[in-house]
Amino acid sequence: MAKRDYYEVLGLGRDAGEGDIKSAYRNLALKYHPDRNQGDSAAEEKFKEASEAYEVLSDAEKKAAYDRFGHAGIEGNFGSGGFQWSDFSHAGDFQDIFGDIFDSFFGGGGRRRSRGPAGPPQGRDLKIKVALTLEEIAEGVEKKIALTRLQRCGACDGAGAASGASRETCGTCGGQGQVQQVARTLFGQSMTVTDCPTCQGEGQLISDPCRECRGEGRERGQTTLTVRIPAGVQEGNYIPLRGQGEVGPRGGPSGDCLVFIEEEEHDYFTRDGNHVIYQLPLGFGQAALGAEVEVPTLEGKAMLKIPAGTQTGRVFRMSGKGIPDVNGRGVGDQLVQAVLWTPQDLNRRERELFAELAELESERVAAEGEGFFSKLRKAFS
Ligand SMILES: [Zn+2]
Ligand SMILES: [Zn+2]
Repeated sequence: MAKRDYYEVLGLGRDAGEGDIKSAYRNLALKYHPDRNQGDSAAEEKFKEASEAYEVLSDAEKKAAYDRFGHAGIEGNFGSGGFQWSDFSHAGDFQDIFGDIFDSFFGGGGRRRSRGPAGPPQGRDLKIKVALTLEEIAEGVEKKIALTRLQRCGACDGAGAASGASRETCGTCGGQGQVQQVARTLFGQSMTVTDCPTCQGEGQLISDPCRECRGEGRERGQTTLTVRIPAGVQEGNYIPLRGQGEVGPRGGPSGDCLVFIEEEEHDYFTRDGNHVIYQLPLGFGQAALGAEVEVPTLEGKAMLKIPAGTQTGRVFRMSGKGIPDVNGRGVGDQLVQAVLWTPQDLNRRERELFAELAELESERVAAEGEGFFSKLRKAFS
């Protein structure tokens, strides 16, 4: 069964904002929640479908990938391929949504948010470029990319502590990561909670740092990533590889690796959206008499019939020989533009024939050419 469009699942248009997505999901989740539809498998399916759509559209990066590449953008680059119910691990989001729901049901006041230690920070995202030929873009391609990045320190396995040493609970905040400060103001006492200055909110300290990484928990290393690029991508598109960026210090989570697409210039094709333009040189004879000529396409050679009397500039359309749409909406065409090729360095025989032709031609060009050139001028103005 074909997967439904996520926007359609949520009953939204493509321009839906964060708030629309959240409230549409909330409404559907309320309606189809398994607790309220015991044993109703259709409702359960609807609930899962809506949850999946929300999981993607509520995540800025996944949404961007989905908006550009459709389901392929999610399946290729966010792990599992299909969504599985057990994958629904966005506990925080879930809590947020259902916290809201319960608030609206039971008139609960503001949500409590327990502020635990922040833990080590996330590593930075990496941006890399991958250059693709038009042929690769037309087919879709898997690329291996070698890069150097900050990775988990092997000696301490990212912990940052020397082997055998353990991380200690921060004495300043007692492991909470936050400290309370009481300030006296004109209006009485005010209490603020800030990140602990000793452990920077992490709640833990390393007293015996790993000697390899000096307590940083990471080191520079080489790796090779594999990225699956769907057919039809364009210059400037990017594919996010989740968790493949720099690892965070002291065992913090990894950032993402964003793979940006670059288009290599092609020897004889130019791209126009999903169409491919090719300029076909034609001799006078071929153009005048008609011919069957071989033209290159992204998939190899193909034959094209040129009718008699073809003018320079005329465009022939080879349907479906272009680039597939990245969202699966059809395939572009190859547009072949005839360009008259004028021979140089004529041999004697050629010179004779052209001279003879020129004599015959001159009157016709004067009579009929005028119309042709005025049409040409109109087309270019
Ligand atoms: Zn280390
Ligand atoms: Zn602390």
